Amino acid sequence: MSTSRPIPRSQLGALVRELPKAEVHLHLEGCIPSPVWLAAAERHGMTCPLPLVDGRPEITSLQALLDHLDWACSLVDRAEDLRAIALATSQHLDRSGALHADVIFNPTHWPHWRERAAEMVGELSAGFDEAERAGGATVNLCWSLNRRQSEAEANDVVDWLLAERAERVVGLSIDGNEAAGSNNERFAGAFRRAADAGLRRCAHAGESSGPGGVWEAIELLGAERIDHGVRCVEEPALVRELARRRIPLDVCPTSNVVLGVAESIAAHPVEALRRAGVRVSVNTDDPELYGIELAGEYEACAAEFRWGARQLGEVARTSIEASFASEDRKAAMLERLESFLEATIGGT
Ligand SMILES: [Zn+2]
Repeated sequence: MSTSRPIPRSQLGALVRELPKAEVHLHLEGCIPSPVWLAAAERHGMTCPLPLVDGRPEITSLQALLDHLDWACSLVDRAEDLRAIALATSQHLDRSGALHADVIFNPTHWPHWRERAAEMVGELSAGFDEAERAGGATVNLCWSLNRRQSEAEANDVVDWLLAERAERVVGLSIDGNEAAGSNNERFAGAFRRAADAGLRRCAHAGESSGPGGVWEAIELLGAERIDHGVRCVEEPALVRELARRRIPLDVCPTSNVVLGVAESIAAHPVEALRRAGVRVSVNTDDPELYGIELAGEYEACAAEFRWGARQLGEVARTSIEASFASEDRKAAMLERLESFLEATIGGT
């Protein structure tokens, strides 16, 4: 476990798949298998507005991605499809050896379910229950606000979360395009109420916003974890503050490359941030849209940045510690991680 020698390339793929870890930046909307929305589109007599490449829509910008999610999710009007999406999400986690995920879902993308949130959460939970009973990853849900929503709508969401106290919905999140302004002041009250009631909080920032968005996520929204956050690298004082306060960043390398936040994995700031003492985890964001796996993201970073056992263990440990899993669940996952590192890597 003390070794930090790079893992031989021939062993890396299997090792990162088996590495116990959590995924903490994963959108339900980005986990819809293409066959599900393609079949739904056919049922509704529609075709995908974007060109398809290998059966996936060609995504080249954050706005194109958000527009596609609005379109694809608007087709999903059957309970069985929600269960299928939950199962596919669990299968995505299991393929990469993820033991747990905090899955972000944003009801504003789902017009058929927006006014039937309890039913939506119930159907998703049924799918996740089935996967968990079969030994799959444990899954929490984080309800995500959309930055276009009003202050009143945000408070309505918190009212719902506090009234329902749905077992699986543990947190409040916020996402959407910040390029036109972050509007974090508008959501500060909702996040404060969520915090007071014991809900967990994370926020997208430092992707379509710069360092200012990250500061606001911390100071105005009280985010315990920043989704992306990588553009903090533009402001050294912020990087130091994130490291000092041990606020983790949920980094999504391929997503950042596809959407132009980073030029390449090699040029991605994840390694500079890790070396600066910022706690980083590696995630997929929207795996079905990008055609990626969580283990593949670990592998790409390990190969590019010559991560050895120490660095891989550190990132996996952060992913578990940063998750909103229960303390008992976290302790069990950390124990598995340490045993794995000792047994698998310690002897190399
Ligand atoms: Zn995201």
